[in-house]
Amino acid sequence: MTLPGIDLSTPLMQQYREIKARHRNAILLFRMGDFYEMFEQDAEVGARALGLTLTSRNNGAAAETPLAGVPVKAAAQYVRKLVEKGFRVAICEQVEDPKTAKGVVKRAVVEVVTPGAVMADDLLQEGRNTFLVAVALGAGRAGLAAADLSTGEFVVERLRTEEVDAALARYRPSEIVVAEGAAPSASPALLTRREAWEFDPALAADELTRHFKVASLEGLGLEAEDALAVGAAGALLRYLAELQPGGLPHLRRPVARRGEGILYLDAMTRRNLEVVDPLRPEGESATLLGVLDRTVTPMGARLLRQWLLHPLADLAAIGRRHDAVALLAGDEGRRRRLTSALDGVRDLERLGARAAARRANPRDLGALRDSIARLPAVRDALRGLYGLDEGFDALGDLGAVLTAGLADRPPAALGDSDTVRSGFDAELDGLRVLRDGGREFIANLQARERARTGIASLKVGYNRVFGYYIEITKANAAAVPADYERRQTLTGAERYVTPELKGYEAKVLGAEEEIARREEQLFASLRDEAGTRITRIQESAARVAAADVLASFADAAAKERYVRPFLAVDFTLDLAACRHPVVERMMPREAFIPNDVRLDATRQIMIVTGPNMAGKSTVLRQVGLAVLMAQAGSFVAADAAAIGIVDRLFTRVGASDDLARGQSTFMVEMSETAAILHSATRRSLVLLDEIGRGTSTYDGVAIAWAVAEYLHEQVGCKTIFATHYHELTQLEERFPRVVNMNVAVHESGDEVVFLHRLRPGGADRSYGIHVARLAGLPDAVVGRAREVLGTLEAGHRVAAPARRDQLALFPATEGPLAAALKAIDVDGLTPREALARLAELQTLARERDR
Ligand code: ADP
Ligand code: MG
Repeated sequence: MTLPGIDLSTPLMQQYREIKARHRNAILLFRMGDFYEMFEQDAEVGARALGLTLTSRNNGAAAETPLAGVPVKAAAQYVRKLVEKGFRVAICEQVEDPKTAKGVVKRAVVEVVTPGAVMADDLLQEGRNTFLVAVALGAGRAGLAAADLSTGEFVVERLRTEEVDAALARYRPSEIVVAEGAAPSASPALLTRREAWEFDPALAADELTRHFKVASLEGLGLEAEDALAVGAAGALLRYLAELQPGGLPHLRRPVARRGEGILYLDAMTRRNLEVVDPLRPEGESATLLGVLDRTVTPMGARLLRQWLLHPLADLAAIGRRHDAVALLAGDEGRRRRLTSALDGVRDLERLGARAAARRANPRDLGALRDSIARLPAVRDALRGLYGLDEGFDALGDLGAVLTAGLADRPPAALGDSDTVRSGFDAELDGLRVLRDGGREFIANLQARERARTGIASLKVGYNRVFGYYIEITKANAAAVPADYERRQTLTGAERYVTPELKGYEAKVLGAEEEIARREEQLFASLRDEAGTRITRIQESAARVAAADVLASFADAAAKERYVRPFLAVDFTLDLAACRHPVVERMMPREAFIPNDVRLDATRQIMIVTGPNMAGKSTVLRQVGLAVLMAQAGSFVAADAAAIGIVDRLFTRVGASDDLARGQSTFMVEMSETAAILHSATRRSLVLLDEIGRGTSTYDGVAIAWAVAEYLHEQVGCKTIFATHYHELTQLEERFPRVVNMNVAVHESGDEVVFLHRLRPGGADRSYGIHVARLAGLPDAVVGRAREVLGTLEAGHRVAAPARRDQLALFPATEGPLAAALKAIDVDGLTPREALARLAELQTLARERDR
């Protein structure tokens, strides 16, 4: 590492160590001129993480100090790499001008970037929030606070302890803040431990009221029962303030998200229904989000994800969304107008946040201006849409200021080209005239001097060291006028200046310096015009996001033939010709077979049987998705839908069906089932897919039976139970509110045709053996299997076959058939050979019968 002239003597290292002591858990990037340096252990860790060469310097004392540095110009990419690897990075700047500083230049940490606290675009995903979450744990209860530094969102929730994991899975934080000694979470996020007192509700209340300038917590809509959530919010705020010493002007007041109005989804349900993430990573768009997402703005994309992760449970709120979707779905012209108005709106939320945090660059402000320009059209398209346009703030005043002040295409970095529009500021205009006049004079000088000296090859040029010069080849040296002063000698030419040239040069360069200073001032004031309006920008961004999501729902409704669900506060769930919105998209149109599903007070538990691949899991999931979509505000994939609002939705998949988890165990399956039985209420919807499958048949049937019975007798919730244990169909006889359904298959010749059609009644009990027969298992084996099954079902031990000679395959003395059979190397057969061999065996057997 090159550190020309940098003094590593003790005072500097002292300053370094003082600052480092306050940022022990971060890698400290210590600004020294054009480099950020890392020292000591940071240098070792940082160099390894970034693939840099580690050097060392004598720091004045005897010991060598390990050292590694990155150029300031390329720092952003190094910071990104470190943060992506899970490090916290403290950025320490020189905070006084080195030229005027006495002694060691003052330095201070201006920002700590962590995986959960990022503002730079290259560390953010457009359609997804980056949450930093704090969790406070109490006895049986918990409080959670989540903030997105890039957008300013701040949410608090109070939870029961068992809901914490589900909540973490919902926010999917990049970093989790917990008190010292609190149990680490299973989440892969970076864990940040803070001192326990920071979570103290009383201290936190002070912190919050002071920061958000309100008299009391009630002013923030928080209540006494929110104590743990308040503690978490306080700890989070304190941590964020440490990471951002420049302040948090864009952080919004915390919004309390209450369980009451929300359809509770646990982590497994979200995963099993593939709401936002596919079970198998390669199935990128095979999620509900993938099918429904037609948003055109980043805010819309983020909000849609949030709506799907937090569907509503409040009739009026859901109705408002459905009203708007209905209107937009039925009016294509308006939908087009809205979408095309939204299309030009950039990330208002993050652009506004960056302006407020004084981080916006000229291009960001340009994007803000261009986005604001679209807002009147968005508002017009929302007119008459159930009040969505009422109070819609098109930010016209800010738009006008930015339009007047900013050049058409402002540069990413100040000074790369004009940032401020000409005509906006008289001083700047004057300076530009001066600069341009000087440049023009110099440009014209070449022609004039050529004429004066008669040297046709005379050139006027510029370089950083000597400034403007006149270059004349050595051959023409004799014609050089007396007023030229020689400055530089090259191999074939000499370079000169004249007093006149120097004079104009001073004017040009002086003007450029002044222009830079003035532009910086003007830009800062434009940025502050935006920054001070942050609350209004965020409010409008939220309206835009909601409009975008509603338009997206409407587009899906119109194009995918979704229907408006009729919601009510009752028990009935009635879906006519319901489809699976994701599976149907992976098939040719009309290929998916719709099904009717009805659950009500007399049909509380539905047992769905049928052979493998019949479509049991699909029908079960499509019911869950219909409820989730309806309560999120979307229309649903059905011909008609009446849905009694559900408070909690659970979807469990039996262990061996759970492919994605790989090493899942029966224990996991059972503890998840236990959680459902504990938290389901009468208003919940429970979807159980092959529960009990992770153990032996008897165990599995017994457990499945007992679970169904408990749900019938104790919980009383709507339940669909998909199972290949046809034994469970007997539940119908014992319990009045259990109904059997099965997914039909049709046999034609040697083929099983899957009809995927749900029909009343239990499945034909012998499907497994039946399919085995169709697959070509010898009749004798099939017959014997039926016999064994009968015995097992009768509750007896399997005895030896009663009449041995009937089981021709295994006669007491070995015949030619058995010998042929034994000779087959089953593992080495191709399917084709297997068939051929089977035919031979059959011939042998028939000969024997004759
Ligand atoms: P099961 O759970 O009964 O073993 P699945 O629900 O996994 O069966 O369905 C197996 C396959 O059948 C699915 O992957 C899908 O391709 C197809 N399928 C299921 N339901 C339908 C349907 N209603 N219409 C068309 N194809 C379907
Ligand atoms: Mg299945």
